[in-house]
Amino acid sequence: MRIENELKLGFKDVMIRPKRSTLKSRSQVSLERNFNFVNSKKQWSGVPIIAANMDTVGTFEMAIALSKDKIITAVHKHYTLEEWTAFLANQPYSIYDYIALSTGIGIGDEEKIQQIVNAHPKINFLCIDVANGYSEHFVDFVKKMRGFFPDKTIIAGNVVTGEMVEELILAGADVIKVGIGPGSVCTTRIKTGVGYPQLSAIIECADAAHGLGGHIISDGGCKIPGDIAKAFGGGADFVMLGGMFAGHDESGGEIVEENGKKYRLFYGMSSQTAMDKHSGGIAEYRASEGKTVKVSYKGAVAETVKDILGGVRSTCTYVGAAQLRELSKRTTFIRVSEQENQIFGG
Ligand code: 5GP
Repeated sequence: MRIENELKLGFKDVMIRPKRSTLKSRSQVSLERNFNFVNSKKQWSGVPIIAANMDTVGTFEMAIALSKDKIITAVHKHYTLEEWTAFLANQPYSIYDYIALSTGIGIGDEEKIQQIVNAHPKINFLCIDVANGYSEHFVDFVKKMRGFFPDKTIIAGNVVTGEMVEELILAGADVIKVGIGPGSVCTTRIKTGVGYPQLSAIIECADAAHGLGGHIISDGGCKIPGDIAKAFGGGADFVMLGGMFAGHDESGGEIVEENGKKYRLFYGMSSQTAMDKHSGGIAEYRASEGKTVKVSYKGAVAETVKDILGGVRSTCTYVGAAQLRELSKRTTFIRVSEQENQIFGG
């Protein structure tokens, strides 16, 4: 047994220190970024936010809505080839910049992405997602996919430490998904005791990835736009959102009404609900480490996007970053023991 004594930080442990700025208004801030991916050699530009590959978030409807703001949707892995074909038949060419095809690492998963990519070769982003990205089998799968798809941009995760980020980039991934345990419907920390405070994971993993020309996604734990700004400030190239995109018209999840109030179900991808729905109730390699919650119905996701982008733009003006790219360089975090004033509720 060993103890690491250095304190690791989450979003709630810091605030961003304001800095002198020459920016006059938020309208001067650009949230678009350009990336060159290290292994696929592809270029991308857009707003580096990603809707999570959960079936209550990463839907085709969400992809259509978010692509209008140049935001990516990691489309969940449960759509069939036929559903993909029907979806893509009427979409503009630009949709390929804003969708990722998600997959697990089972034999069935492998066959399915081969079929979908063969039928739709313009799909560029592949998101290879497992709860625990530390297994050798996962690294081998990433290598295999890189071999099959030399020019696809491969997202792989989840991990939380620099050495594993490096290993995955060397195995052929372009963008590493970072986060174990911070998710809003995740119970991994409760069930297993395993995890890593998200802001420190971002800072350490970004450093490792950038050293090799790779990129990272901060995945999970953002509750408010300020958390997204902190993730970018810590060095995340992309930020993935689940809970913040749940409960909308475009989200999946059963609609329920209670006492005249509308809700949508939102659940973790390894919750009992997801397993009952997709794996006939039989627990797969992911044990049940997710919860099911009711999220108040929030209307169109476009309104939430405005709120998020407005918040992050404002962060940029507070530190004098004319472009999102500059935010991390201009970020000084201060450690705090308080956040917002809760007197009138959270
Ligand atoms: P959120 O933005 O809701 O805080 O976090 C979303 C992320 O939570 C997802 O992108 C995914 O990484 C993670 N997640 C989704 N479902 C589950 C689950 O059932 N268990 C765990 N451990 N994590 C989950």
